Amino acid sequence: MLTRLGLNTLGDMLYNFPRRYEDYSQLKPIRDVFYGQQVTVIGEVTLINSHPLRGGKMTITEVVINDGTAALRLSWFNQPWLANRLKVGDAISVSGKVEQYLGRLVMNSPDWEPVEVENLHTNRIVPIYPLTANVTQKWLRKLMHQVVTYWAPRLTDHLPETIRTAAGLPDLCTALLQAHFPDSDEKLQAARQRLAFDEIFFLQTGVLRQRRDWQSLPGRLLAVENKWLDSRLAALPFALTAAQKKVLSEIRLDLASGQSMNRLLQGDVGSGKTVVAALAAAIVNASGAQAAIMAPTSILAEQHYRTFLNILASENGILQPARIRLLVGDTPAAEKDEIRLGLADGTILIVIGTHALLEDPVAFKDLQFVTIDEQHRFGVEQRALLRSKGTNPHLLVMTATPIPRSLALTVYGDLDISVMDELPPGRQPIQTYVLSPTERERAYTLVESQVKSSHQAFIIYPLVEESEKSELLAATQEHDRLQKDIFRKLKLGLLHGRMKPDEKDAVMLAFRDRQYDILVSTTVVEVGVDVPNATVILVEGANHFGLAQLHQLRGRVGRAAAQSYCLLIPDHEDAAENQRLQAMAETNDGFILAERDLQQRGPGEFLGTRQAGYATSLRMANLGDIQLIEKARQQAQALFARDPDLKNPENGLLAEALGRFWGGGKGDVS
Ligand code: ADP
Ligand code: MG
Repeated sequence: MLTRLGLNTLGDMLYNFPRRYEDYSQLKPIRDVFYGQQVTVIGEVTLINSHPLRGGKMTITEVVINDGTAALRLSWFNQPWLANRLKVGDAISVSGKVEQYLGRLVMNSPDWEPVEVENLHTNRIVPIYPLTANVTQKWLRKLMHQVVTYWAPRLTDHLPETIRTAAGLPDLCTALLQAHFPDSDEKLQAARQRLAFDEIFFLQTGVLRQRRDWQSLPGRLLAVENKWLDSRLAALPFALTAAQKKVLSEIRLDLASGQSMNRLLQGDVGSGKTVVAALAAAIVNASGAQAAIMAPTSILAEQHYRTFLNILASENGILQPARIRLLVGDTPAAEKDEIRLGLADGTILIVIGTHALLEDPVAFKDLQFVTIDEQHRFGVEQRALLRSKGTNPHLLVMTATPIPRSLALTVYGDLDISVMDELPPGRQPIQTYVLSPTERERAYTLVESQVKSSHQAFIIYPLVEESEKSELLAATQEHDRLQKDIFRKLKLGLLHGRMKPDEKDAVMLAFRDRQYDILVSTTVVEVGVDVPNATVILVEGANHFGLAQLHQLRGRVGRAAAQSYCLLIPDHEDAAENQRLQAMAETNDGFILAERDLQQRGPGEFLGTRQAGYATSLRMANLGDIQLIEKARQQAQALFARDPDLKNPENGLLAEALGRFWGGGKGDVS
């Protein structure tokens, strides 16, 4: 039975925390509850009634409880067995949201528990554990009580006294006891803080250790003269923004430090990261070493390739065009061979590509610089693999998904972080509107008028179901409908994830070359695509997207001087959803939106697969809790300063606990 709950070891038991608590000291009389409230009440069952609904496919079970002050109606759908579990006269506690039906207060599908009378008197706060069938709350709670009260006092705390005191945390025994059977809300909160601290502290020691490992690696010293750099900057078609200059000088310092660079460049969409990467590659090339740039899609790789050519190999550039090459899956075999040769003998100095760069036969003569664009699209292994094609090459990872500071410290805590939060001059803020589905015509009118003034538009459809087939269907049908019924005279292109890479590229290129006025697409355009002539993006089903993702999509427009628009249409009129989308209308700042997204949707949006793994290993900690994260990071830093290899006997247990947490693997999160 316990195995079915995933409880195989003593540790599993001790860390099987309650799903929630019932605080009987906070009970409300039913008379005092009101519509919209989230409450727990206790009452005696006075009526039970289970009957099929219209059509007979559903049953509804209605129960009325009364606590002496008033009655409350409860209803559950399709749980007919409830009628047998409950008897008139039973005392139950129910928790849920108070709603209204035909003028009466009701609760729909509330959480419920039989009330154990002793709880009312003994424990003010009672834990409610996650259950499977065949186990009752009462039975499990009793077992947990035995296990926790017997074992918690017998554990030795892995967190040394020094750290505990410095961070103002209770010891492990107290924390475990109070997390399961709290004496008061304050003690419960302190216990949760302590347990959350442990989790974040383990993460932080892991990333800091990784960082130390990085920093102990020597890196090739790649320096250039000021004069050299100035002439490079003077040859650019535009002046760098202050943010670009700042980041470039950070990178330049790293490259000249003799240690291998590990830097994350976070730049809001459109802030101009590609140029920075190109100049960094040029610095590396100046010493005769090679650079590799990896992008997640061939469209993007091709786009970067052109930027690099423009910047580094134009008339007044420093490289022959042939020394920069593009390597993607569709590159013809003969050309691939030629590129491999050029990389192996060093005639090619810069290669830009997709994961095709990772294929085995690609070997470099002297790879010293690796850039990974839109890094969250790659797995840790892929990044490590590219890095392994050189000896400690300098690493620059770039992301246009701003990551809230708390998260960045947690999952990229081993990297130095540069931020570019400035757009090139002359950009007008994108105007964003949230429209209701009934206002769609207005959106079409705006799209049409933008096209009339020779701009282009994106129309985006969400992947409602996680199936490529339905994606294909939705986008194709909408494309046909729009072409036939709405934009009869315009040229519409179609792009979706089911297309082969070369088909996608062909459509994207045709769109960029203005062969289409409107590109109907799924979110495959989300990442990095640069079509400066596009000035309006209409997102259907906008409620299906996170704010960070919408911000990415919005970043497809507003990439030149013309006023651009972003139109968001949710697929139903839901006040709460609309309010969330309003945040998009309120700000163009990706960092602010990322913070909101983190609060509202959790960290999943920002994390790659491995990193999402951490998030699920956190039972107590909230990755949005910046204070806790900074506290844990400080303590982890102090610990490393005192005892870098955890050799001190005081830290023995901690070293073991860390080993278990990281499963012996290296904490490579870059
Ligand atoms: P992102 O940071 O989203 O990857 P890109 O590197 O694609 O942005 O740059 C967006 C656009 O801005 C490109 O068309 C690029 O040529 C242009 N750009 C970059 N830096 C500047 C600058 N300093 N001044 C003007 N335009 C710039
Ligand atoms: Mg980019």
